[in-house]
Amino acid sequence: MRDIRNTVILTGAGLSAESGIATFRGPGGLWEGHRVEDVCTPQALHRDPELVHRFYDERRAKLADVAPNAAHRALARVDAEWPGELLIVTQNVDDLHERAGAMRLIHMHGELKSALCALCGIRHAWESALPPESECPDCGEPALRPDIVFFGEMPYRMEAIERALGAADLFVSIGTSGAVYPAAGFVQTARYHGAETLELNLDPSEGSGWFGESRLGPAGTLVPRWVEEMLGGL
Ligand code: NAD
Ligand code: ZN
Repeated sequence: MRDIRNTVILTGAGLSAESGIATFRGPGGLWEGHRVEDVCTPQALHRDPELVHRFYDERRAKLADVAPNAAHRALARVDAEWPGELLIVTQNVDDLHERAGAMRLIHMHGELKSALCALCGIRHAWESALPPESECPDCGEPALRPDIVFFGEMPYRMEAIERALGAADLFVSIGTSGAVYPAAGFVQTARYHGAETLELNLDPSEGSGWFGESRLGPAGTLVPRWVEEMLGGL
């Protein structure tokens, strides 16, 4: 641990599972009862905006009933106390990292509590329901959509993420299936630049073989333990 300074932590839906938010690939490969193609692509938004907007409205409303778990809290603690560079890159669109207090955080796949104007590109903090054709407070056009990165769209802040991966001494992946690119490839980038790599996941992920070390178990148990190790070694 003594040589570790720069750390990148990637998180996925498994981190929020113990808070009661369903993962992406639930029973039958569905996300909350829907095929991913029907709620998570630009084509779906174009074909059936009512369905797609309602789906994210339900996900946004659900945030009021859930709370950060021990894993979110432990990551907020390592963020606050780690003296070196640290970046939490989350694929999650919930707000549990920030509610636990994490500061050095990038939401690479967007956020439920944000609306994006498809015309002017400006984002707006959004708490309530977002019906199709809601007006953009900036340009006035009825073009607001959920601020979610769909399949086929470019994830946010990739330059900053690539830079952090290139400088990382340690890359940790938590609660992600390793099925969605480009995030699934971060372990290879980090390794290429010489980082140690650690996976914390309930089951072996599709990319498990790329990690120097894999620990299997629930995030609520494994993450606080790992954070103790990190901070204890300072
Ligand atoms: P995924 O559903 O594909 O994989 C989840 C992984 O977490 C699985 O490998 C599973 O074994 C593991 N897991 C389940 N419970 C766990 C636990 N208690 N502790 C540790 N690991 C556990 O999720 P993903 O890889 O993040 O898929 C990415 C896509 O899903 C993203 O685009 C994201 O936006 C979207 N998504 C986000 C949320 C959220 O914001 N909470 C929820 C569902 C889907
Ligand atoms: Zn606009």
